[in-house]
Amino acid sequence: MIRVMVTGAAGRMGSAVVDAVTAAAGMELVARVDPTLTPGPGTFPDVASALAAGDVDVAVDFTQPASVFDNACAYLTAGVHGVIGTTGLTDAQLDDIRARADTGPANAVIAPNFAVGAVLMMRFAAEASRHMPRAEIIELHHDKKLDAPSGTALRTAALMDGDPVIHSVRLPGLVAHQEVILGGLGETLTIRHDSLSRESFMPGVILAVRSVAERPGLTLGLEPLLFPTEDS
Ligand code: NAD
Repeated sequence: MIRVMVTGAAGRMGSAVVDAVTAAAGMELVARVDPTLTPGPGTFPDVASALAAGDVDVAVDFTQPASVFDNACAYLTAGVHGVIGTTGLTDAQLDDIRARADTGPANAVIAPNFAVGAVLMMRFAAEASRHMPRAEIIELHHDKKLDAPSGTALRTAALMDGDPVIHSVRLPGLVAHQEVILGGLGETLTIRHDSLSRESFMPGVILAVRSVAERPGLTLGLEPLLFPTEDS
């Protein structure tokens, strides 16, 4: 049984993760962590009190750019593996987490997008850019999203040839969407992914919770979990 703590448990993503972990075979939800929840059995205002209260194997983090790094340092140092979906980590923070995961007692999986279709969209865009290097990325998200450009758009651009420009749209009604438009001589190619509900992220999150203990150090992105035979 994998004992799971969800940080950001009251949020849009965190509450979906609480439901997904509760429904998943072989997992037990042992702690919900969020300062906006009323403390009680299994419910904690911060990571430190949750770690002090009992045994946790994996923390799933969907909090905020301002909180995720301190949270990650706390649970990784305590030997709790991290599955981190919160976006907005700086390169320096990412390097620090990589060092902790490489040398410390716990591993981490950090993915800017846990939706399988989004991972495929990034992969197809990277492949297309080898042949059509002129491209632009339009990412569209709900208006409560704190960071821009999105982590998914930054990762897509990093995987593509040609240094694509990123445009960010924030509007109510949207969930998470991205279009990669590649332009060539007399032709364009559009690759689009739409997360229509937050359930789209849950299979990837559950896969990462099941896998993280067996993946030493830091795993960046869901790709190595989805395409294990290509893993170096
Ligand atoms: P949200 O604002 O609805 O939820 C965040 C929650 O975190 C809030 O309930 C807040 O009280 C809580 N929180 C803040 N600081 C905390 C702390 N120190 N400890 C515990 N809880 C804390 O946000 P959301 O829409 O659920 O998004 C959360 C994050 O997930 C964002 O960074 C977003 O970009 C990212 N996201 C990632 C993916 C992915 O697939 N990787 C998908 C969707 C969203």
